[in-house]
Amino acid sequence: MDFNDTKEQAVFRAKAKSWLAANAQAKRQGLMAGTQEDRYQQAVDWYHKRYDAGFSCLTWPKEYGGQGLSQMYQVIWNQEVSHYGEPDEYFVIGIGNCGPALMTFASEEQKQTLLPRMARADDIWCQLFSEPGAGSDVAGLSTKAEKTGDEWNINGQKIWTSGAQYSRYGVILTRTDPEVSKYRGLTMFMIDLKQPGVEVKPIKQIDGGSHFNEVFFNDAVIPDNYRLGEVNEGWGAALMVLMNERLANATAAPDGFEDFLNWAKASDIDGVPASQDPIVRDKLATWYAQHAGVEATTFRMITAVAKGGVPGAEGSLGKLVGASMNQEIANFVIQQLDAGGQLTGDESTPLDGHFQSAVLMAPGIRLAGGTDEIMRNIIAEQVLGLPQEPRADKGIPYKDIPSGNTGA
Ligand SMILES: Cc1cc2nc3c(=O)[nH]c(=O)nc-3n(C[C@H](O)[C@H](O)[C@H](O)COP(=O)(O)OP(=O)(O)OC[C@H]3O[C@@H](n4cnc5c(N)ncnc54)[C@H](O)[C@@H]3O)c2cc1C
Repeated sequence: MDFNDTKEQAVFRAKAKSWLAANAQAKRQGLMAGTQEDRYQQAVDWYHKRYDAGFSCLTWPKEYGGQGLSQMYQVIWNQEVSHYGEPDEYFVIGIGNCGPALMTFASEEQKQTLLPRMARADDIWCQLFSEPGAGSDVAGLSTKAEKTGDEWNINGQKIWTSGAQYSRYGVILTRTDPEVSKYRGLTMFMIDLKQPGVEVKPIKQIDGGSHFNEVFFNDAVIPDNYRLGEVNEGWGAALMVLMNERLANATAAPDGFEDFLNWAKASDIDGVPASQDPIVRDKLATWYAQHAGVEATTFRMITAVAKGGVPGAEGSLGKLVGASMNQEIANFVIQQLDAGGQLTGDESTPLDGHFQSAVLMAPGIRLAGGTDEIMRNIIAEQVLGLPQEPRADKGIPYKDIPSGNTGA
């Protein structure tokens, strides 16, 4: 593919650049400063501003709050915005995963009402897939949806639900038929989280924040028209959501290289510019090569999507390499910061605590959206065509799969 901007893309890039320069805040303005609530409010304000300026949900149709542009424009935006420090972690799941699910499965009226509110961050959405007993193997989930008349009763528990405490709605995957194999008895819905029978409990994390939650459902009721897709065909619907997650991750996930480069340009080690240190130079070369590889692989995937294909398993390569590299870079720079690496949340914290924050968040990034091992399995099976790993529960009705729970 041609990596140069077309004339129209160059115009869009210039417009995005100048708007960002005037409106976005610089990267190093206290990433660890302020409370989580401050940061959340800052993110909401940022999305309102973005939406009003026509830079939200670029690939969505205009009638649903988007700009009707191709994926390449989203890539250009992601490239330009990555130079700034605006938070968008509260919206990537809603906009990246739930939005496309609604676009495919919701009624026209629901799309017209719900999607523009999502695009402007008037409503935050979350993804309710993982459970205490079902993460990598999400099809093994046990949260039940049972139908009575025109309504569904939801009972069970989700976990690691990012942003649920701020969310008005979520997309939830449930078990509707335990008599068939685990993949065949699932159904996907949207759910209003501000209703009786839903309890959200934030989980305290290592960085002091509570970005994800446990969510409990106790006879929470959903109308049948909140169903996304056919009954018992939720696995196909969920795969679509997860493929979009891969694309969103691949085009937006940082691998830390730019931060490392900026650090190397601006810092000294024992009075010598870091960029002249042989170990730093070796790291720069290694990580640049990986960064360029990730970027090229991402472009390959985007090219396929731009030609009408679906995001493929290649996105797993970018996730695997980028997330590990992000962690290695954070750990390396923290060591170079010496005793300063221990400081957090203080005005004297070097580089406004960017790398302290990165060290604490990096392990989670390697798990979220599929762990390293799961990425390797996908690459092995779907990219390299290696034999599938043994799946002992294949074809067995869900209710007969041993769960280790004796009921005692
Ligand atoms: C920051 C963060 C945000 C998240 N946000 C959300 C969210 O918004 N919504 C949501 O639904 N979920 C969310 N998750 C959950 C995430 O999807 C799961 O953590 C992830 O899928 C792994 O599942 P698990 O934690 O249950 O680990 P497990 O699946 O129990 O895995 C435990 C270990 O076993 C390994 N393993 C498992 N299966 C295999 C296999 N077949 N082969 C080899 N190794 C294997 C794993 O790699 C891992 O090391 C989030 C997680 C994190 C960390």
